[in-house]
Amino acid sequence: MNIKNYINGQFQNPEKDEWLDNYCPANGEIYGQIPNSSKTDVEKAYKAAKMAFPTWSQTTLDKRSRILIKISELLETNLQRFAEAESKDNGKPVSLAKTIDIPRAASNFRFFGNAITQFASESHESVGQQAINFTLRQPIGVVGCISPWNLPLYLFTWKIAPALASGNCVVAKPSEITPMTAYLLGEICNEAGLPEGVLNIVHGLGTSTGQAIIEHPNIKAISFTGGTATGAHIAKVAAPMFKKLSLELGGKNPNIIFADCDYENMLATTVNSSFANQGQICLCGSRIFIEESIYEKFKTDFVQKVKSLKVGHPSDDSTQIGALVSKPHIEKVKQYIQIAKEEEGKILCGGNSISIKNYENGYYLEPTVIEVPNDECRVNQEEIFGPVVTIMPFKTEEEVLQMANKVKYGLSATLWTNDLKRTMRLSNQLQTGIVWVNTWMMRDLRTPFGGMKASGVGREGGFEALRFFTEAKNVCIKY
Ligand code: NAD
Repeated sequence: MNIKNYINGQFQNPEKDEWLDNYCPANGEIYGQIPNSSKTDVEKAYKAAKMAFPTWSQTTLDKRSRILIKISELLETNLQRFAEAESKDNGKPVSLAKTIDIPRAASNFRFFGNAITQFASESHESVGQQAINFTLRQPIGVVGCISPWNLPLYLFTWKIAPALASGNCVVAKPSEITPMTAYLLGEICNEAGLPEGVLNIVHGLGTSTGQAIIEHPNIKAISFTGGTATGAHIAKVAAPMFKKLSLELGGKNPNIIFADCDYENMLATTVNSSFANQGQICLCGSRIFIEESIYEKFKTDFVQKVKSLKVGHPSDDSTQIGALVSKPHIEKVKQYIQIAKEEEGKILCGGNSISIKNYENGYYLEPTVIEVPNDECRVNQEEIFGPVVTIMPFKTEEEVLQMANKVKYGLSATLWTNDLKRTMRLSNQLQTGIVWVNTWMMRDLRTPFGGMKASGVGREGGFEALRFFTEAKNVCIKY
């Protein structure tokens, strides 16, 4: 199935007629083409957004909210269709897309549709000076939203929904590897009555289409989720143009397990936090540190559970691990398994490609557990972003804290303990934007979301996102 750009409410071919192949990871076959949009297409999208801005930014909050909630409802009505499309494009199990990705995309629109009606700005009375200040929160204008392939519609809408709710018009680009559900979203937006030009979706490579968005002099803010190297490049381009930037980047998250934890809950959640979505979630706990006294028990139980995970075709209901997203990506992940061996890591289970009957060319990999000799090896320091985790024991809280923080990333950390004082000490000292205690990936959309260090700049979620997508203007009135 071929897809088109969505500009000014219409589906359009790219001006230069350049196309990219779209692969199905489950069988390795090309199943459609997508535009590789040029500067000209991005300019068209920008112009449509600019035209729509005066009206959309003056549309009442009630009306904006109703439209966003309508989009949310239509996503729910079309759950099966969207989940199948997401799975076909990305390789994730349909069951996962149906329970996580698409419901969350719907929640994003519902949440920000509601949040904008509760968003308020401050006022400051200058006591003794007979003056009052108040803050106007005004939409920025035309903003750019660029998202990755791992949670395609989930992360695409996590940016678009707050941008639209706060009155901006958007030029958005999904990952060229997983463009399908973003394409389908255009249809839903029309059906929900989103005025033309308010949201424009252009498809293509990061280096062509994405680059045209970040370089555009009048796209004044960029919300980006993706790799750290791409984030650094975007920052370089955007900084001299003084664009507002929100960067959600890579992670190498510690999962710290103390002997006093609720063991069974920890074990089940750790399997999930290691391998959900084939380990392709920026929040996966890919470095597992286990207190020495339970290390051997954990090792045996964990490996046994991981070995029983079913790798299979994404549309098979019993599949727990689907296909990795692309051929280059599975090659990269396999290369890290090789590096682990060279670094004297011990492969406790997995490590090999799997051939699934009738889908022999799909990108399937066994979930892999590596026992590492130390925390400084490359597989423990670099983001692999696949179904691969490392495990190693620790002796003391101080030691594990140091290892947890000794990476360039700082996105999230998971902590398993029932000791409240320890929870407080570590939560204070972990250099990450998110700390989960006795749980993983439990999300409340009101909370600030984002990372420290090489994991990003800025926070998304709740009012943080609405603040990002608005300019604060102080008005001071002397009376
Ligand atoms: P990527 O950086 O390769 O691509 C992300 C997006 O940026 C794509 O749409 C791509 O086309 C675009 N892009 C690439 N070059 C560009 C350029 N020069 N200008 C503008 N846009 C450009 O990342 P990916 O491989 O799609 O995603 C995986 C990465 O995303 C991992 O590092 C993962 O940790 C990270 N990620 C982070 C979060 C988070 O919330 N922190 C969430 C999900 C994924």
